[in-house]
Amino acid sequence: MRSLCILGSTGSIGVSTLDVVRRFPGKFRVRSLTAGRNVEKLAKQTREFKPDRIAVAEPDKVKDLRALLDGWTGDVLAGEDALCELAAEQESDYVVSAIVGAAGLMPTLAALEKGKLVGIANKEPLVMCGPLMQAAAEKAGATILPIDSEHSAVFQSARAGEKSELRKVVLTCSGGPFRQASADTMANATRREALSHPTWSMGAKITIDSATLMNKALEIVEAHFLFGVPYDGIHVWVHPQSIVHALVEFKDGSVVAQLGLPDMRLPIQYALTYPERWDGGLPVLPLERMANLVFEEPDRGRFPSLDFAYRAGQRGGTAPAVMNAANEVAVSAFLEDKIRFTRIFDLVGEALSKHAVKAMDSLETVLEADAWAREEVRKSCQ
Ligand code: NDP
Repeated sequence: MRSLCILGSTGSIGVSTLDVVRRFPGKFRVRSLTAGRNVEKLAKQTREFKPDRIAVAEPDKVKDLRALLDGWTGDVLAGEDALCELAAEQESDYVVSAIVGAAGLMPTLAALEKGKLVGIANKEPLVMCGPLMQAAAEKAGATILPIDSEHSAVFQSARAGEKSELRKVVLTCSGGPFRQASADTMANATRREALSHPTWSMGAKITIDSATLMNKALEIVEAHFLFGVPYDGIHVWVHPQSIVHALVEFKDGSVVAQLGLPDMRLPIQYALTYPERWDGGLPVLPLERMANLVFEEPDRGRFPSLDFAYRAGQRGGTAPAVMNAANEVAVSAFLEDKIRFTRIFDLVGEALSKHAVKAMDSLETVLEADAWAREEVRKSCQ
């Protein structure tokens, strides 16, 4: 039985992970759960799954949380250190990394440093410092399993050949709500319009990232670090139906793809049951009823995000961390109605242009670059 720590259990991925757990009674034990601020949801999950320990990132929420626990007598912890403690403790052997943004870095790293199996949905830390995370994993014997649907698809498809035979990776994306919008419509897009994703139901930050294609930009870097494919071998196609999640091309010309409904429970389940496949009763893809699967080149003029990723990735060092941090602050500013939608592109581009890239020699260097970019973008949003 795998003993789970779920970081970010109250989010979209966290809730889907618990739904997968619910489908396999006796196969998983939930050792610990963590939340940011949503104590109502954390308390409800605690009452159902009965973990031994829970933690909330915001210490001022502990009192409210305790009041909701209804006789449950496990440990309640608070703060970032507590999240790291739960991720690292030996009583869990599998950590699901599903916090949003850079906030997930330290707990995920704590799990890797203890040599655990770590299912990673939280892509931002990988973008910030993938090589440091890989090095930590290698040193401690930890295994990283991708949960992000495209990377799960690459991971699954790549098993059809040797790593040295892999020639090209194609990540697909729906194109988001502005796939066919004019530049003018995009400039004036409201928060509600940007949050209306055509195929996936996800947390707010990744939904905005999908509307700007910054999500795909982050995924290009994530794929480079996870699979060791050079940037010029990583391609993005718009595929509005979100059925083919990624394709890999081998050097003999064979293309292998993974298909599935746009439902995160499938890649989550695969990461949890790997290397086996179990029947969790998830809805099956009715491919025979699907006509017209469409693939298009992305419009890199209206969506400069992809170029940011290739630029930051090729420059290397702290550049991807700056791209990520600038985007996180810009997305928050857009969600708070402080900036226009397309200003996100300007802010990320400006931060990348101004940044003096450093080699990624330590976590401190990465965190400094992250803090610098956040401050730059905050100043520009005032
Ligand atoms: P959500 O916004 O739905 O959930 C985020 C989770 O992180 C919540 O549990 C939230 O807690 C917690 N959290 C937020 N801020 C902090 C903080 N400062 N410290 C600790 N915990 C915090 O996000 P998603 O589930 O959509 O996404 C999670 C990650 O997975 C992201 O990196 C995303 O890119 C990636 N991903 C998501 C997919 C999806 O379908 N949703 C698909 C592929 C990847 P609370 O709500 O209690 O405040």
